[in-house]
Amino acid sequence: MAKETAVSTANETARNIGPVILLGPPGAGKGTQSKQIVDRYGVPQISTGDLLRDHVARGTELGLEAKAIMARGELVPDGLMYGIVASRLREADCQRGFILDGFPRTAAQAGWLDAFLKKEIFDKRPDKRPDKRPDKRSEEKSDDSAKCPPVVIQLLVDYTQLLLRLTGRRSCPTCGRLYNIHFQPPLVDELCDVDGSKLLIRDDDREEVITSRLAAYETQTRPVADYYRAQRRLIAVNADRPVDEVTAQIFGVIDRHSQNECDPMNDEARIK
Ligand code: ADP
Ligand code: ADP
Repeated sequence: MAKETAVSTANETARNIGPVILLGPPGAGKGTQSKQIVDRYGVPQISTGDLLRDHVARGTELGLEAKAIMARGELVPDGLMYGIVASRLREADCQRGFILDGFPRTAAQAGWLDAFLKKEIFDKRPDKRPDKRPDKRSEEKSDDSAKCPPVVIQLLVDYTQLLLRLTGRRSCPTCGRLYNIHFQPPLVDELCDVDGSKLLIRDDDREEVITSRLAAYETQTRPVADYYRAQRRLIAVNADRPVDEVTAQIFGVIDRHSQNECDPMNDEARIK
């Protein structure tokens, strides 16, 4: 790695970026772009689809309940989602920020998330401004997180392109790398370039289920974009472009957001 790149990556991975919410229909590239954000800023990707698939694979009570719903391409009830998201967001690796991929997916989930962030993150983390004396809580739990509001990035992609992305999606069961037989094919048919594992097709990436998923997106997830637009938090990105170009746009949005709104001295920007 070039010296300047190493220095710049080190700076990015020490920075607070706060919550990054990626919105977009199935196939928009949320998972693909999340991995780029993880690499650059060193914050975790929280994919509710992956968390649910993990529950299904382990056969937990939640997994048993979610399995049939997911196979039909419908949304898992909000009440079941809150527990898994809350416990993941409370983990220590989320303190400088995190990427939410696939959550919130309903307007009710968006309202729940705002309330959760306010109560559990913004109200609990210590205030670092020089005019604020540390209170008891900040002495007990010292971290350097800024109280940074979420940035919401909406990935816009044409419907026909979405169908190609979903029908062509493949993933490696060993390393998680994503491929697409139309756009990012592996070097050897159906095998991972990194570890040679046989690539998987997701159960819900079948054409008949894809239509239900895109319909669920239109009716239930579009209102989430309206919710954040009304709060002036929504930033749309043209995601109908090659992966690297989309990534460059997203990095620009996150860099501007974290410089303007995650600065602990910048009172105006913060959620009160
Ligand atoms: P995609 O990558 O195609 O957008 P995901 O992997 O995010 O799909 O989600 C797969 C499935 O998991 C969804 O079709 C839905 O059944 C369930 N799911 C994921 N996230 C949520 C959520 N926030 N609320 C309800 N159901 C969800
Ligand atoms: P989501 O998480 O939003 O459902 P994914 O990141 O899994 O979407 O991407 C869906 C499919 O489209 C994958 O096969 C991925 O390799 C491919 N893909 C993602 N971004 C692009 C892009 N900009 N151009 C072409 N194909 C893409």
